[in-house]
Amino acid sequence: MKVVLKSGTQNASIKNHLLSFKCTVVQEFAQVMFLSRELSDSEQAILLEQFKTIKCFTDSKWPLVATAEPCPLFTNGFAAIAGPCSVESEQQINLVAKTLSELGVKFIRGGAFKPRTSPYAFQGLGLKGYEMLANAARQHDLISVSEVMSVEQIELASKYIDILQVGARNMQNYPLLTALGKLNKPIILKRSAAATYSEFLNAAEYILLGGNSQVILCERGIKSFEPMTRNTLDISLVPVLQQLTNLPIIIDPSHAVGLRSMVPALTRAAVAVGANGVMLEAHPQPELSVSDAEQALSLVELNSLLKQIANLCKTINCFENT
Ligand code: PEP
Ligand code: MN
Repeated sequence: MKVVLKSGTQNASIKNHLLSFKCTVVQEFAQVMFLSRELSDSEQAILLEQFKTIKCFTDSKWPLVATAEPCPLFTNGFAAIAGPCSVESEQQINLVAKTLSELGVKFIRGGAFKPRTSPYAFQGLGLKGYEMLANAARQHDLISVSEVMSVEQIELASKYIDILQVGARNMQNYPLLTALGKLNKPIILKRSAAATYSEFLNAAEYILLGGNSQVILCERGIKSFEPMTRNTLDISLVPVLQQLTNLPIIIDPSHAVGLRSMVPALTRAAVAVGANGVMLEAHPQPELSVSDAEQALSLVELNSLLKQIANLCKTINCFENT
């Protein structure tokens, strides 16, 4: 049996309480405790009554990813990460950074090492891309997000980038996940287009196991039988995974739907479903984007969407208070 503790929970008092049930903690992993035996229903009820911030699970097929301290950047309000699919030039990324800071967005994204389906497609500016993104972020006091595709790129990425992203295609690159577990930086882990919740959480667990608790889960659409959109946004992931983990969960509507006109609707859904944030692709001249042009928002569209997010957040808080 496993007991998942939410952050701030006092482990010691729970352990003492478990002793009174003649049950011991056999192993601890981050904020998950593995107990020596199953608790009866009444024991579980007593424990849950006493400690409102814990959850008990007996179904071992679920990995229970929890962490003592979920990344504070994503647990305080609704976070918006925005920026181009790829860093293309200094001029492009600087203009995006300037606009984001004017709009009050804290996080800027931009790919430098790009995982492209075709080997003939633009592969990203590499190191130069990291440098340009880092400079733009520094000048405008933004937090940078960029992808790292291999173990060899980690050292370089961590020199320049604040939050490292593991792309959907690398969600099960276990050496990469293990190496990122040793880093003291937040990691955005994107769900593979074909991963179950259990596989996704297990991938996160690889990072947590190394001691890095700053994992942010990102749903970016899964493969379905529907050809009209790039992927299918699995909005159910948010409430389901909130039952199983206290890691922050963000949604990437851009890669999910693949069409800019539908990104706002899915972004509103992300706010309403209780996600911790969104990642949006935006470009000064979307139609000229070197990658993912169809899904990029213009900076004007981004501005309007951010206002909608702010209004929705207010409305939802308002409902919570009634
Ligand atoms: C990206 O965010 O740049 C990206 C490549 O997304 P994904 O890994 O979800 O396809
Ligand atoms: Mn993209």
